[in-house]
Amino acid sequence: MTKNISVCLSFDFDAMSVWLTTMRSRSLSTLSRGEFGKVGTERLLDVLRDRQVPSSWFIPGHTIETFPDLVQRIADAGHEIGHHGYCHENPASVKPDEERAILERGIACIRRVTGKAPIGYRSPASDLSPASVRLLTEFGFLYDSSMMANDFTPYYCRVGDDPRTDGPYIFGKEVDLVELPMDWSLDDWPYFGLHWPAHHVGLRTPDEVAKIWSADFDFLHQRMGEGVFILTMHPQIIGRGHRILMLERLIDYMKGHAGVTFRSMREVAAAWRAAHPL
Ligand SMILES: [Zn+2]
Repeated sequence: MTKNISVCLSFDFDAMSVWLTTMRSRSLSTLSRGEFGKVGTERLLDVLRDRQVPSSWFIPGHTIETFPDLVQRIADAGHEIGHHGYCHENPASVKPDEERAILERGIACIRRVTGKAPIGYRSPASDLSPASVRLLTEFGFLYDSSMMANDFTPYYCRVGDDPRTDGPYIFGKEVDLVELPMDWSLDDWPYFGLHWPAHHVGLRTPDEVAKIWSADFDFLHQRMGEGVFILTMHPQIIGRGHRILMLERLIDYMKGHAGVTFRSMREVAAAWRAAHPL
């Protein structure tokens, strides 16, 4: 069987925004964990350049305005920049008009860097409101990457799902927005992120995580032969030395397989949509 596997490395460059909004912190020490995202990003740009692989970055407007030169470097290196809120707001916890305003503000920030509106979206904290999909189609997005209804196969998002409990779940209508699914098991934060009080003790060893990630890749390569392998990472998490070395080993491992191509998510979404018209 000829293999046709796309690998997408995606990086959510949250910097301080995740601590300010999602974690509601004003502690300078906590915020500095986000600031480390700058160091991590610089290292990741070197890794991606040395291995000549494209990638997709989801960057809140807040990060773009805080680190404009670094974000410009990401874009200038040819990497995709997608939408990730303004200051990491959860779409499911804001009013619909606020959700719209946040989308507009984030788009404006990305336009200033790339000259174009983004076509990819990943929700901060991977939450979506009942209005999100409709808004994303209205703003001309090609794909979302916040849902988990498949693993290695893209699909179309729906509007009008009825999540009732007094009868079966009612599926809404598919719309022209490709879902490139993410999953917490293919995300660096749950494994490595440490939160005080220690209700979430991360700090797992890189080898343990590499085993999980490469086993998922092996399943895709051996059993399915076709699909997209999407890793979600955060510069402030994956950017630590021992994890960078793991990522390099993993990239090299995947590159060593036949029929594997590293692609940006926008490229994968466009190709899948062309091959599977709605
Ligand atoms: Zn994020």
